[in-house]
Amino acid sequence: MSTIRVAIAGSSGSIGTQTLDVVRAEAGRYEIVGLGVASSVETLIAQANEFRPKVVAVADQRRRAEVAAALPFAEVVADLADLTDDADVVVNGVVGFAGLSVTIRTLRMGKRLALANKESLIAGAPVVQPLRSTVGAELVPVDSEHCAIHQCLRSSAMPGNEVARIVLTASGGPFRGRKATELADVGVDQALQHPTWKMGPKITIDSSTLMNKGLEVIEAHELFGTAYDQIEVVVHPQSIVHSMVEFTDGSTIAQLSMPDMRLPIGYALAYPNRIATAFGRIDWADLRRLDFEPADTTTFRCLPLAYEAGRIGTTAPAWLSAANEVAVEAFLAGRIRWARIAEVCDATLQRFERSADRTVDDIIAADARARQVATEVLAA
Ligand code: MG
Repeated sequence: MSTIRVAIAGSSGSIGTQTLDVVRAEAGRYEIVGLGVASSVETLIAQANEFRPKVVAVADQRRRAEVAAALPFAEVVADLADLTDDADVVVNGVVGFAGLSVTIRTLRMGKRLALANKESLIAGAPVVQPLRSTVGAELVPVDSEHCAIHQCLRSSAMPGNEVARIVLTASGGPFRGRKATELADVGVDQALQHPTWKMGPKITIDSSTLMNKGLEVIEAHELFGTAYDQIEVVVHPQSIVHSMVEFTDGSTIAQLSMPDMRLPIGYALAYPNRIATAFGRIDWADLRRLDFEPADTTTFRCLPLAYEAGRIGTTAPAWLSAANEVAVEAFLAGRIRWARIAEVCDATLQRFERSADRTVDDIIAADARARQVATEVLAA
């Protein structure tokens, strides 16, 4: 087997560092050809010294000279999308809207995209979807739920006709079982305590509001072409069943493992094969129970809001996602209460302005306008 060349956009983040864990564990199977960060140059330099990529990307121009001096063997570029040139597989672990350009370039070049950047499909779907038909282009999701669905769908020869529904599981986050009144005064520290997954701060807050699950519903719709009426969310606090697909004959296929993002990362790198290193193996002697309960959409309003935006379509998911970024940023900075996140998202979505959605510029404009509206809502 020849070596598979991998580039990682967002290499200092949670997905990036875990991708390097997989590459380290699968010695000789993968070669790191590109690493890129926004501004975490210390981490980038350490990673590059270990993996010796040809190209490193640093978005923050003030830090570029320092990186070039530290890494004489690597070409230093500004644009994370430039990392795709020498790679067979591009891991997009960029956080937020900034990841869109990496997704577009990778698909346009007809390469495998291991996608962990949610905004690429949520905000970017109108421009990203057509690129998926580029010859050689392939999108494999790096998200535990979508990776699970991707695996479950492989049990059907005709998933387009045979899927009855997708059941997305949600851990419920740190506030599962609590009511809105009990959540009025929760602080940033409490919202950052995820019960089962270790992730970055933005996505951890999104898990506490269930916005993360809502965005995943939109992502599932875009990835697999499943109608919103056929996508359900069920709360499963152990995060062992990562999602399920029910087929027309009543069979439900599920994917199970301990929560470990290295499994979906390895799946996306190796697909249609599997890596040889096991991550998240289940010890059945230890596993006592798997619980399931309905999602509380009254307390966690971000979930129904995401369905609403998804059903509107066009740039409405981009609009909601941008509003959420503004609200989460304000919450992390201590400027608003936790409950305000959903209120800001709701009020901003109610002011959705339909716009063109054909080009990246259209989507950037919708994103910018939504941020403006959300900022007005915050100030009101
Ligand atoms: Mg997930």
